[in-house]
Amino acid sequence: MADLTAARETLQRVFGHSDFRGLQADVISEVLDGRDVMAVLPTGGGKSFCYQIPAILRPGVGLVVSPLIALMQDQVAALRTAGVAAARLDSTIQSDARRETLNAAREGALDLLYVSPEGLFAQGFLDFLEQCPIALIAIDEAHCVSQWGHDFRPDYRALGQLAGRFPGVPRMAVTATADLKTQADIRAQLRLEDARAFIDSFDRPNLVLAAERKPSKPQDRIFDIVRERRGKSGIIYAATRDNVEKTAANLQALKVPALAYHAGLDAGIRAERQHRFQEEDDVVMVATIAFGMGVDKPNVRYVIHADSPKSIEAYWQEVGRGGRDGDVAEGFCIYSANDLRRAVMFANQGNASEQVKAVQIKKARQLFAFLDGLTCRRMGVRRYFGEENAEPCGVCDVCTDPPVSIDATELASKAISAVMRMDQRVGRGRVIGHLIGRTGDGMDERYASRSTFGIGADTPEPVWRGVIEHLLFEGVLSEGEDERPTLCIGDDEAVRAIFRKERVIRMREAAKSTRRSKD
Ligand code: ADP
Ligand code: ZN
Repeated sequence: MADLTAARETLQRVFGHSDFRGLQADVISEVLDGRDVMAVLPTGGGKSFCYQIPAILRPGVGLVVSPLIALMQDQVAALRTAGVAAARLDSTIQSDARRETLNAAREGALDLLYVSPEGLFAQGFLDFLEQCPIALIAIDEAHCVSQWGHDFRPDYRALGQLAGRFPGVPRMAVTATADLKTQADIRAQLRLEDARAFIDSFDRPNLVLAAERKPSKPQDRIFDIVRERRGKSGIIYAATRDNVEKTAANLQALKVPALAYHAGLDAGIRAERQHRFQEEDDVVMVATIAFGMGVDKPNVRYVIHADSPKSIEAYWQEVGRGGRDGDVAEGFCIYSANDLRRAVMFANQGNASEQVKAVQIKKARQLFAFLDGLTCRRMGVRRYFGEENAEPCGVCDVCTDPPVSIDATELASKAISAVMRMDQRVGRGRVIGHLIGRTGDGMDERYASRSTFGIGADTPEPVWRGVIEHLLFEGVLSEGEDERPTLCIGDDEAVRAIFRKERVIRMREAAKSTRRSKD
């Protein structure tokens, strides 16, 4: 392991900080030893020093690839103020300044050179770089290589060729957000198969999280949560503009200072409402996900998902807007099988490639399996991001009031059999009616003679509803997209495993929505 004395000395002398934080020292040490790294550090974790300091210490220029011109400008300005020889090449740089920068790079007189991916692949630039002494190559916002995320940049895919062009130069992929799949993508696309991964904790110890299935009157549940927290600042996320407007109006009627926010509103109104939210201490913002970017209010005390988010990453980002000041903040997520159906439908209707759609759907399913699951909330999220050693948080709903779980493998087998015997042609209500052995009232006589008719008569209807929802959340069953969706098999392999009892289905004994909040 590299001696970090010089690195620490640089941190102090150039940047004025006394010591490294988090994983900075480990990342820097690896790069100083000339090896590749992949670093996933939360926002504010101090990613820039991870490449800036080795770039200063190693001979040659450190090349930083970043898609954000504003960020490059800030960093270069800050580095120059600190006396570091830094420059950038982007579309705003004039040709004289450009020539000067290129000369400095060739002579080894630059410590850091920031370029956009377009700039990097501009005619002849890579050939030029091959003649320069290169200290390292850092790829910032590395998650942009992954086409599953919303920040996908096709240019980033080509960055893999740097491996062949600059053998022996340590390369770094750096990002603040990358789940396991994105991490795998970064490795494969950027040819960092052997890079050591440094994943800093995504934990937010002051977040107290809970999730529950939507009760029959979800609005009432939300009002209860808000009323119990009167005078505190909160955010309520809803999926549609209608739902946003309706919820905000209903809260206003209850004398809660609620504001609506969505992309359909005038920019002026949005700015004004965001300002009020930021400045006043008791405002509740009811919003679509259009509200978020650039929101940095320290004392948001709770975040409610009135409709479920898109993925575990989105969930974490959104609840993460609570408790920025470090004091306790609560997150409540209210979800239903219909939310999952909507998420699948949106993915399918989008114009992404089939492959991307499949991943979006998988991410939605992972979210619902997590929400409806039996794992500590914070631990579940952290494991999802690749933190293998994450421990239960001790304060979430699962930790403080562990849901009673039952082995539902047998029930699942019966429900799946019924779906199959009914030719995957009917919806939830009828499958349950069939299992219970109900006749008349909209039940189709045709299926009454099938072997699965009435095989679940000894199990109450709400339990069947729970079993089917659980199988939907796990993706074993799925639902069509019609007005009256039919149940069908979602995962043949899972079904076979359940029939053979190789896969155990554990689920909550009762839907949590039947429980009232404790306080
Ligand atoms: P990000 O990981 O979000 O890109 P930055 O690299 O911009 O984070 O750093 C975030 C802030 O933390 C900056 O103001 C930086 O000066 C500060 N910082 C980073 N590392 C340290 C450290 N070891 N000691 C003190 N401050 C640090
Ligand atoms: Zn927990």
